[in-house]
Amino acid sequence: MSSRHRCRLCDANLARVFIDLGMSPLCESYVAAGNIDAPEVFYPLRVLICDECLLVQLPAYVSGESIFSDYAYFSSYSDSWVAHARRFAREMMTSLSLTAESLVTEVASNDGYLLQHFQARGIPVLGIEPAANVAAAARAKGIRTEVRFLGPDTGAEIAIRYGRADLVVANNVFAHVPDIRGFAAGLRALVKAPGLVTLEFPHLLRLIEGRQYDTIYHEHFSYLSLRTASSALATAGLRVVDVAELGTHGGSLRVYARPEESAGEPTARVKAVLDSEELAGLHTVAGHEDFAAAVLKIKSDLLGFLLAAARDRRTVVGYGAPGKGNTLLNHCGIRSDMLAYTVDRSPVKQGRFLPGTHIPIYQPERIAQTKPDYVLVLPWNLREELTEQLSYVRSWGGRLVFPIPELAIV
Ligand SMILES: [Zn+2]
Repeated sequence: MSSRHRCRLCDANLARVFIDLGMSPLCESYVAAGNIDAPEVFYPLRVLICDECLLVQLPAYVSGESIFSDYAYFSSYSDSWVAHARRFAREMMTSLSLTAESLVTEVASNDGYLLQHFQARGIPVLGIEPAANVAAAARAKGIRTEVRFLGPDTGAEIAIRYGRADLVVANNVFAHVPDIRGFAAGLRALVKAPGLVTLEFPHLLRLIEGRQYDTIYHEHFSYLSLRTASSALATAGLRVVDVAELGTHGGSLRVYARPEESAGEPTARVKAVLDSEELAGLHTVAGHEDFAAAVLKIKSDLLGFLLAAARDRRTVVGYGAPGKGNTLLNHCGIRSDMLAYTVDRSPVKQGRFLPGTHIPIYQPERIAQTKPDYVLVLPWNLREELTEQLSYVRSWGGRLVFPIPELAIV
């Protein structure tokens, strides 16, 4: 297959499909009630893999600006994510001995969910957040925030205005930038020479092993291994010195990188993760080839369950309206005939409809009011937290359904 797309990391021609999920609308473009009759734009969800550098990637079918300018995701609405951020902030304050003379800069700082913990201890912070509505929420909390996309120029400009940072944090954004080399250069511009950059991103190894294909959506441009992430950072003179494996987002990596000149030797953990990737086949194209069959099995199992439930006149509703749910629902062709509604804690989403499928989103209380037979949990990665939070469903004999990594009815 020839292709008009080139690798965003090494510029090679992209000729190989990793997985094709068909056409899908932008997963965060929740539809307001007034727009329910308007047409929607669908884009391809065809993920490619580079034969040269092995970066798994979604071509930029959509521009970053059109995705992130009015982003509906507010970090503070997930309890476990807020707790994760608090732990990380404490670790960094201790290990880097941060003081009132330091600077912590966060890229994609969202509503200040992380920086607030540094600021509460008197450590100066700066947020860089492309979505104006989300940045406004951060500013309302008193978190200094610039509404910008990070690239080499903005990185340098912000460093001149605010100074270079001792710690630059980029959580769940590296995989979401179309220009990954420009973003890496921006990080390099923001950090002091002996400073530290930390990035968190979903680990491709976990995506493949856990069949987490619903983490594929237009906002997620690169599906990174430690190997490909290290290559991308190296283009900007940043060297990976340590790595931690995290349970967040179905299994993420937190990568610690420093400017080359002050990096030193990487820890044994770096080699261990690279070895586990190699063992899983991620250092060859062939190692990526079984994923499509695993995805088809998830689709057929979930549809089989929903069709059987409909035939038996059982009611099924959703819990959560995460972006990933929209990939799953659109790929499987599930609409309100099979999933009557879903609920979400975020008031921004309530009263709107899921993109593409037009399934209505209500407040969580709706579940207890309507007592459905099954609740399909769309943010399945928060399985433990939500099993507990939704334990009241059992009081009327209802059951929870988790679609991934394989269909589970509990
Ligand atoms: Zn490449």
